Amino acid sequence: MQIPIQKITHSRRSSVDFNHLPFGKIFSDHMLMVEYKDGKWNHPHILPYGPIPYAPSMAAIHYAQSIFEGLKAYYHSDGHVSIFRPDENFIRMNRSAERMSMPMIPEDLFIEGMLELVKLDHEWVPKEQGSSLYIRPVFFATDEIIGVKPSDSYHLIILSSPTQAYYSKPLRVRIETTFSRASRSGTGYAKAAGNYGGALYPTSLAQKDGFDQVLWSDAATNTMIEESGTMNVMFVVDDKLITPILTVSKLAGITRDSIIRLAKHWGIEVEERHVMIEEIIAGLKNGTVTEAFGTGTAANVAEIRTIALGEEEWSLKPADQYSLQNRLANTLMDIKYGREEDIFGWNKIVI
Ligand SMILES: *Cc1c(COP(=O)(O)O)cnc(C)c1O
Repeated sequence: MQIPIQKITHSRRSSVDFNHLPFGKIFSDHMLMVEYKDGKWNHPHILPYGPIPYAPSMAAIHYAQSIFEGLKAYYHSDGHVSIFRPDENFIRMNRSAERMSMPMIPEDLFIEGMLELVKLDHEWVPKEQGSSLYIRPVFFATDEIIGVKPSDSYHLIILSSPTQAYYSKPLRVRIETTFSRASRSGTGYAKAAGNYGGALYPTSLAQKDGFDQVLWSDAATNTMIEESGTMNVMFVVDDKLITPILTVSKLAGITRDSIIRLAKHWGIEVEERHVMIEEIIAGLKNGTVTEAFGTGTAANVAEIRTIALGEEEWSLKPADQYSLQNRLANTLMDIKYGREEDIFGWNKIVI
């Protein structure tokens, strides 16, 4: 696939301080854009990153027929650049598209378009320890119509943003039993824009009370743990790795899948099943729950130190180098940066 490229005349790269990158605010020079119209995909093209004029009647902003993805490119010390498991993001994006009544994206367009874009902007893949280039595909309805129906036209845009190592302090999370993120038969498994807008208010209430995130419970019974923010969640209980089983209401994280595969490869027992709030609270009280953490592309692995339910809270022992979460996190990072053999074939080499 030959993709026409309209290059920027002056790169903005030299004005960016790669040692102080605010998350998601700096964008690399180019973006890829493709239009879907009248039942077919047009030819993709690459152009300078920048604003695009859209009509106020554009369907996506009224009824949220809009989905996205998030993945990363990593710089290897031998000069290679790779993208982590883009095929999985492609599959998930089309699963989201189906749920939102949007057309299927062709695989070569998504993968080759992304590779071409990252190759062109490879100077934007940060070389600093722990940093990476975040890649954001976004796909949305562009019909100029006020009417609740699937759009006839869409834009798929891929942009990218250099990001620094994500040093989060251990998280304080509160189990949310009043609001829910997704219902048992809703859109939770789709990376659909509306899911995230709806999560902001409950999250802000938790943040007002001094928590970093909510731990969502299931909407039907509020007795089971689902996930947290834009992360899946895992617990270490009696040396086993326990994580909520994927259902319609949960986002199937690629980091989650990678961690599970790595743990199983190491011979660690993994249980994907319903995780009851009650059992986690009991385990925090009697010490059988020894670790808790979130998994996602942005953070890789984020330690959960404190878990609250209502007015009560329980804290875990700080994770150290022997903690399962740190061993898993470090090995996964080493694979992504090419420091450890890519035994699962997860890295797609760009250059
Ligand atoms: C994106 C996302 C995740 C994590 O998925 P990864 O593929 O690991 O980045 C988890 N939960 C939600 C709600 C998400 O949007």
